[in-house]
Amino acid sequence: MKIPRQAMPVQGPEDRVQNFTEVAMGFTLDLARMEAERCLKCNEPHCMEGCPVQVNIPEFIEAVRTGEMAKAVQIMKSKNNLPAICGRVCPQEVQCESRCILGKRGEPVAIGRLERFVGDYALTKKAFGVTKGPSTGKKVAIVGSGPAGLACAADLGRMGHDVTIFESLHTPGGVLVYGIPEFRLPKEKVIRAEIETAARALGIRILTDYVIGRTLTIDELLAEYDAIFLGTGAGLPMFMRIPGINFNGVMSANEFLTRVNLMKGYRFPEFDTPVKVGRRVAVIGAGNVAMDSARSALRLQSIRAGTNGNRTGAEVHIVYRRSPAEVPARLEEVEHAREEGVIFDFLTNPVEILGDDEGKVRAMRCIRMELGEPDQSGRRSSIPVEGSEFEMEVDQVIFALGTTPNPLVFSNFEGLQRTRHGTVMANQETGRTTIKGIWAGGDVVTGAATVISAMGAGKRAAADIDRYLKGEADS
Ligand code: FAD
Ligand code: SF4
Repeated sequence: MKIPRQAMPVQGPEDRVQNFTEVAMGFTLDLARMEAERCLKCNEPHCMEGCPVQVNIPEFIEAVRTGEMAKAVQIMKSKNNLPAICGRVCPQEVQCESRCILGKRGEPVAIGRLERFVGDYALTKKAFGVTKGPSTGKKVAIVGSGPAGLACAADLGRMGHDVTIFESLHTPGGVLVYGIPEFRLPKEKVIRAEIETAARALGIRILTDYVIGRTLTIDELLAEYDAIFLGTGAGLPMFMRIPGINFNGVMSANEFLTRVNLMKGYRFPEFDTPVKVGRRVAVIGAGNVAMDSARSALRLQSIRAGTNGNRTGAEVHIVYRRSPAEVPARLEEVEHAREEGVIFDFLTNPVEILGDDEGKVRAMRCIRMELGEPDQSGRRSSIPVEGSEFEMEVDQVIFALGTTPNPLVFSNFEGLQRTRHGTVMANQETGRTTIKGIWAGGDVVTGAATVISAMGAGKRAAADIDRYLKGEADS
C-alpha cells in the first residue's frame, strides 16, 4: 500500500490569527512512524547531500520507524545539536527534502517534521544524546549565542574544551529569540529548553549582557582565551533610500519583531512594551522576516479588535517588487500567511512614503514592476513600468529588506579584514579570519542567511579550532 505524506496537525487560520501560540502542533508517535514507513532506505541516499550539517537522515528515520527513539536522538544529535529548532525553521523544501527520491514522482518524505519530532522527544526526556569530552584545559570564547555560536560551542564542548559564550542581550538564542515569532518557534518550550539542555550536558557557560566591543574588547578576550569564535550575526536593518522614511509609522522589521518577541509586546499590558500596529500595514519584502512581520501585525490587529477578532477594515500587505516565483521565504510560511489573510502585492515597489500634517504615515506611492533578466542573485530582476505609479493607503510601513553585521563588536580592534558590506572575511571551510586565534561564521560572514547554514559554519570552525588547539594546524 502506498502511504501518503502525513499532514502536520495545525491550528486553523481563524483561531490562530487571534493568538501567538504555535501554529504547527507536531506529529504524534503514530503519525511519525507512519511517515517514517515511507522512507525507501535508498542504497545511495541523496537526502543527506541536501543537509548542510549532514545528519544521517535514513538512519534516524529508521530508528523512528522501529520506535527506537533514544537511538534516533543519538543519531540526530551527533550532527545537529538543535533539531527541535531546525525541524521547525529549516527551508527543507530546498534542502534535504528537495533531494529525496520520492519527490521525483510524488511528495518527499517529511524529513523536517520527523526531525522536529525527534527534537521534541529529546526535550521532553531532557536527553541531549552526547556528553562533554575529557578536559583539554583549553579555553574558547564564543561571541554571540545565535545558531552559529551555539553549534560551535556544542562541538567544542564535546571535544573537551572549556567554552564561554558572551551574549550582548539579556537572553541567549540570537534571532531565534528576538526575530522569529512565538507562533513559529516557542521560546520557553523549545529554545530555552534546547539551549539549557546543551549547556548543561556540555558544561558551556553563557554570560548574558556582555557587549563585546564595549563591556570587553576582542583584545581582552584574546589575552584570556586560547581561541575566539565570532558569531555576532547581521542585526543591522537596511532601509530603502526613498523620501518619507522618517515619518512616524515607518520602522524596521527588526525593531517591530524585537518588540513583539524579545520584549513580549504581544502580551501588553502584562509586559510593558508598547508595539504600534496600524489599521493598514505594508510590509516591504517577501523573505521569512517579512512573513513573520506581516503575520505578527495581523495577530496584533485581531487581538486588539477584541475577543471575536473582528478585523473589519484592517489589512496587512506584503509588497514585493518581484513575482511569486522569486519569493525567498519558506513555502510553509507563505502558505500560512495567505491562509491567515495577508494580502500579497507582487511586482510592486514603493517610491515614496507620504505623511499627514502631524508627520504620521498616511499612504505610500508605489510603482508597478515587470521582470527582466536574472541579476547577481540568480533571480529575475525587476524593472519599473513607466507611468504606472499609484497611491496605496497605509498607516504603517515595515521594512524587511535584509540586514548587515552590527560593527560594535569590532570597536577598538584593528586588523580584522571585512568586506565593503561589513561582513567578516573568513575561510569558508575553516572559518579562519585574517587574525591568528580568531574564527568567524554565520550571518556575520555570509550576511543574512539561514539557521542551518550558520550552524554548519559554527561546526566547521569548531573542527578547525580543535585542530589548532591540539597543535595539528596553525591559525
Ligand atoms: P544571530 O542569530 O543573529 O545571533 C547573533 C548573536 O550575537 C545575537 O544574539 C546578538 O545579540 C549577538 N551579538 C551581536 N553583537 C554582539 C556583541 N558585540 N557582543 C556580544 N554578542 C553580540 N532562517 C531559517 O533558516 N529559517 C527561518 O525560518 C528563518 N526565519 C527568520 C526570521 C527572522 C525574523 C529573521 C530575522 C531571520 C530568520 N532566519 C531564518 C535567518 C536566521 O535566523 C539567521 O540566518 C541565523 O539566526 C543566523 O545565525 P547567527 O548565529 O549567525 O546570528
Ligand atoms: Fe528516505 Fe528520501 Fe532519504 Fe531515500 S532520499 S533515504 S527515501 S528520505
